[in-house]
Amino acid sequence: MSQTTKAGYVAIVGRPNSGKSTLMNAILDYKLSIVTPKAQTTRKKVAGIYSTDETQIVFLDTPGIIKADYEMHKSMMSYVQNSVEEADVLIVIIDAANYDISKGFDKMINSYINSYEGPKILLLNKTDKLADKKTLLPLMAFMQQEGGFNDIVPISALKKDNLDSVIEIISKYIPEGPFFYDPEQLSTESQRFFVSEFIREQVFYRFKEEVPYSIEVIINEFKERESGKWYISAEIIVERESQKKIIIGKNGEKIKELGKYSRKEIEKHLGFEIYLELFVKVRDDWRNNKTLLKSYGY
Ligand code: GDP
Ligand code: MG
Repeated sequence: MSQTTKAGYVAIVGRPNSGKSTLMNAILDYKLSIVTPKAQTTRKKVAGIYSTDETQIVFLDTPGIIKADYEMHKSMMSYVQNSVEEADVLIVIIDAANYDISKGFDKMINSYINSYEGPKILLLNKTDKLADKKTLLPLMAFMQQEGGFNDIVPISALKKDNLDSVIEIISKYIPEGPFFYDPEQLSTESQRFFVSEFIREQVFYRFKEEVPYSIEVIINEFKERESGKWYISAEIIVERESQKKIIIGKNGEKIKELGKYSRKEIEKHLGFEIYLELFVKVRDDWRNNKTLLKSYGY
């Protein structure tokens, strides 16, 4: 018996906070990509794998499109570019509850998508925030004219509204071919990567202003044990001595809390208990240091 399968890559691009990570997590029904109310939480490309019996869709969640102020941003934006180049289908997502058409079509997004020749789908996200769905009509007409999209779909990633149509439309464009990954596999990323992301997410929740943007989390030790708890030690890299003080807090209270909440999230993801140790290290201006960026995987 032979069965034809389909498999392909879908890049999800858009401005920071438009709901890219929420969308991918909602489709995979699993928390793969960190989501916080702050912009610029996704720094690296995260692939999530959606498989049915016939179709495998590999979603690439990308960092929000921004003007690159730091070396780190440049590398983030090159992830976006690479993802677009790899994609069989391109998804552009916008916050439809917060889009000003009088400013014209988003030039920054356009610069990433205009050279793309495959099918482009526009998702109008956050429709749950709209009191009257009719307000979407002018936006849809505008986008139809300006963006050259094959499909435009209103959704709510948060409420998982209309995601079935999204999958159906994407599947239409996915080429025939064998699966890239085992259908049981949910992501291409390692457990180490997720652990560092969950810690970074907690830093976003628990610290203010520039601190979350100034840190990186490096996993130093990741000891998987057959019996007994796994041991994980992580280093929080900061840019300045003052940030180190903030992360540690008075009598180490802040870092203790950070460790506790991070551990809970990691345990939820792994499905068992772990030991987690956190350290803080100052690396002056690491976001502008090409060598350090490279060693951190940018
Ligand atoms: P990203 O930066 O594009 O990856 O955006 P995130 O997925 O991190 O989401 C940014 C914020 O928007 C988070 O607070 C989400 O909970 C929120 N959000 C995402 N999708 C929706 C939606 O459909 N409706 C509402 N009301 N909020 C959403
Ligand atoms: Mg994101």
